[in-house]
Amino acid sequence: MQPEQNAQILHPKVVLGVAAHPDDLEFGISGTIATWVKEGAKAYYLILTNGNKGSDDRSKTPEELTATRRAEQEAAAKILGVEKVFFCNYDDGTLEPTPEVKRDVVRIIRQVKPGVVFCNDPTVVYSASGMINHTDHRAAGMATIDAVYPLARDHLSFPELYKDEHLEPHKVKTILLNNFDKQNYAVDISDEIETKIKALAAHASQIPDMESRGEMVRQWAARAGRLHGCAYAEGFLRLDIPI
Ligand SMILES: [Zn+2]
Repeated sequence: MQPEQNAQILHPKVVLGVAAHPDDLEFGISGTIATWVKEGAKAYYLILTNGNKGSDDRSKTPEELTATRRAEQEAAAKILGVEKVFFCNYDDGTLEPTPEVKRDVVRIIRQVKPGVVFCNDPTVVYSASGMINHTDHRAAGMATIDAVYPLARDHLSFPELYKDEHLEPHKVKTILLNNFDKQNYAVDISDEIETKIKALAAHASQIPDMESRGEMVRQWAARAGRLHGCAYAEGFLRLDIPI
């Protein structure tokens, strides 16, 4: 059963997408990013791992894969109008929501001061449809939620960020979670579905079968659109954090 829908439309000035891997944000929120950038929002990405395990090609070294995926992420972000992509270099497949990872997320939240933060829902381990939520996605989601509340907000959390980098605390208003099954908010991406597909296609090392994958993504967006009365949409579980 779907939770009650949130009808209040978001128009953030600054949005930050936090993900484990290059390409996660293109699947999850790229249509929304493109839509909000067109409205004048500034968008930022934070990618926590280097994605160095994401290949079947045995001739590629992890270092080569890291470089390829970073370039692909930069290209996708450019297509969407993202201001800047911040990269951490945690090893793919072993991400944990440690204090160090949380501090890295807090640092970027305090730097760019987003009204809206997007991440994976860390409570989702699998979906009845058969999808398993990658361990890095869960870790990235948990670290991000903890970073938003309470760590980025409290000046006594990671005081070195103020002392050494002059970063003030910041209160994020809304989190949009990627959840396969539960959604209470959607963004109409009908005008930007082709931009989303184009940005996904920038991840050629991950999506060799772009034609069929693009069709699948289009069908997901059409299904979300049908639920929300538009041609194409991206759906989220939205949390508005009481100030
Ligand atoms: Zn991923």
